[in-house]
This record gives sequence, C-alpha cells and structure tokens, in this order.
Amino acid sequence: MRVYMSVDMEGISGVVHWKQTGPGKDAEDYEQCRRLMAGDTSAAVAGAFAGGATAVVVNDSHGAMRNVLLTDLDPRVELVSGSPKPLSMVEGLDSTFQAVFLIGYHSRAGTPGILNHTYSGALVDCRFNGQSVGELGLNAAVAGHFGVPVVLATGDDVLAAEARALLGDVHAVAVKQAVGRYAARCLHPQRTEQLIRVAAQDAMSTLQRANPYRPALPLKVDLEFHDTGQADGACLLPLLERTGHRVVTFTAPDPVWAYRITRAALRLSAA
Ligand SMILES: [Zn+2]
Repeated sequence: MRVYMSVDMEGISGVVHWKQTGPGKDAEDYEQCRRLMAGDTSAAVAGAFAGGATAVVVNDSHGAMRNVLLTDLDPRVELVSGSPKPLSMVEGLDSTFQAVFLIGYHSRAGTPGILNHTYSGALVDCRFNGQSVGELGLNAAVAGHFGVPVVLATGDDVLAAEARALLGDVHAVAVKQAVGRYAARCLHPQRTEQLIRVAAQDAMSTLQRANPYRPALPLKVDLEFHDTGQADGACLLPLLERTGHRVVTFTAPDPVWAYRITRAALRLSAA
C-alpha cells in the first residue's frame, strides 16, 4: 500500500503565527517549527507503516516548500522538496497511491481557524459548484480525480471540522484549539504525535470503505478576490469570465485542470 502525504505548516502542532512559518521572519521560531513539522509528519509516517504501508511519499507543501529536513524523516520515506511544482501541494500524487494524508493543514479563508486562508491572501473564497472549499478541498479533489481517498487530516479544531464536513468519514486530529486567527490552545507535541500516529494507523484500516472526494463534473469554479484589482489580474487568462466585480468564474473538465487554472489565476492576481 502506497501512502501520499501533503504537509503544510499552519496546522502543525504549536504554530500560531506567520512569523513562525518562514525563514528570515523569526529565525529561531522557524527552526523550531520546521522540526515540529517534521515531528507531526514522522508521527503520521510511523502510523502509516504500522498500518501496512509499503511506501510513503511526503510532499513539503508550505511556502517555498523547503521546510522539512530530509534527515528528520524515516529513511524509508521519499521527500518531494522545493517549488514551483506543476501540482504544487499534491505534486507526485497519482493513481498508484491508495491513501492520502493531509498533515498540518489550515482551515479555508474566512473561517475562525488559525492562519485561515485559501492558497493566497488574495482569495476571500473559492467555490466548487457553489460550495466553499479551502486547500483541503482543492487538494482532496485532485486526489479524488486519481481515485485516492483522503483518510487523515491534521490541523486545528476548525480544520478538523472542515475535513469532516467535506469528506465525511475521515480521521481528523485537532492538535490545537483555535482561539483566534493568531492564537490557539496547543497540545504538547508528545501528545499530538501520539494522537497522529494512532489516527494514521487507524485510518489505514479504513481504506476499503473510504470514498475519494469527487465533486460533480464539469466543475464550476468561482474565485472571489478581496479587491477588483486582483480580479483584473486573474482575467489576463482568457478562460476566465468576470461574474462579479471581485469574482471570476470558469468551468473545468476535471479537478486537476481546475487546480492548475486556479493557481495560475492566483499568480496573475498578484501581478
Ligand atoms: Zn502553508
């Protein structure tokens, strides 16, 4: 059994602020948080192998995507490191995998979760066929396109609720309770690593009945920006239709197509 893990940073144990999530911001804090990121990841890796995984691929999915140190991981793991990558947070995921874990994820833009956002600060909302989705939904849809279910998600309590609401029977671990966007009540990493390891192993035993997330196709995607200038930039792509002052809309034949157009639109929105 092959397990794919996409690892973000905002939903990692103990992380509550942007300054902890990138080099050059608060160097000491970042160094500690990238190790916490490897800790949550390693707990999931241990659970996956204990649950019968034969191979695990970890994709560093945060910021410049060079946060997890290879030497902090189990030697059986392969690490996808660096950016840009065509499929970004799910680069390397395909139909050869049987399970996806989303580790250290954060809730979607506008929810009360720690460091909530959807891919960039530019988006107020992203909707699939009218339903709001965050990074969890965007990445789960790509996994679903390849027929692979998301069976474990970790982050704060708001992310855990978002995962259950969207995916149903998913194992969700809350490593912290959000107090606000920049404050949380955090469990010690020794406790969260145990919770994650146990949930990962349990999740492996549910693969037979796990359902991939498959929104109806063709997929209508609305990208709602904070300001009209960002929507102006996104509209440099001829595929996008302006459906509101701050909203652009397109229809995608499949989630991979939707994912790549969304990412391109976000880049252009910053131009
Ligand atoms: Zn991130």
